[in-house]
Amino acid sequence: MKIICIGRNYVDHAKELNNPVPQQPLVFMKPPSALLVNDKPLYYPEFTEDLHYEGEIVIKICKNGRHVQKEFARSYYDQIAFGFDFTARDVQKKCKEKGHPWEIAKGFDNSAAISKFINLELDPNDIRFKTVLNNEIVQEGHTADLIFDFDFIICYVSKYFKLQQGDMIFTGTPAGVGPVKIGDNLEGWIGSQKLINCDIK
Ligand code: MG
Repeated sequence: MKIICIGRNYVDHAKELNNPVPQQPLVFMKPPSALLVNDKPLYYPEFTEDLHYEGEIVIKICKNGRHVQKEFARSYYDQIAFGFDFTARDVQKKCKEKGHPWEIAKGFDNSAAISKFINLELDPNDIRFKTVLNNEIVQEGHTADLIFDFDFIICYVSKYFKLQQGDMIFTGTPAGVGPVKIGDNLEGWIGSQKLINCDIK
C-alpha cells in the first residue's frame, strides 16, 4: 500500500505559503508507517516546533493500473476519506532551502491521519469539506477549485507509479493551514458529515 500525496493543488494555498502555482502536479509519498487511523491522537513530535495540519480529501484506489487514460480514470477510485497531511513546517522549510527531499517533514510516523472511507456518490468535482480547529472552522475546501482534479491525478501519477488496490492519494489542501499545539482538537468534515477527530497530545 502506498500513500501518495499531491502538494499545492489549490491556488489559494500555494499563494499563502508563497509558492508558485505548479504547472504539473507536485507528488510526494508517505510510508505506510505514517498512517494514523481510528481517531487516534497525534503525539506532537519532538523534532519540530511548528507542526501544521493540512486538511485534505483522500481517494482510495480500487483496482490496479498503470498509464491510466483520462476516460477511464474515474473507475480507479470509488471511496473517499478526510485526511490530515501533518507537516513539520520548520523542518520542511529547511529541506526546501537546501533543495533536499522533504520526507522527514511530511512522512514521519502518524503524519497521515485518515478517517474511515465512505463511498463516493458525489460528483468528484463538487465535494465540500472543512477543517475545524478547537470548534472553529479554519479551512473550507471545494474540489471544484482543484488545480488538478482527481481524474488528472490518477492519469499523472500512474505514469510513474503503478496504482495498486488499496493505495491512498491525498489530493491537496485548500488555504487556511496553520499550526497546532498540544491540547488542540481537530475535526475533518466532508459535507455535513464529521469523519475524523484528532487530538494533539
Ligand atoms: Mg498536503
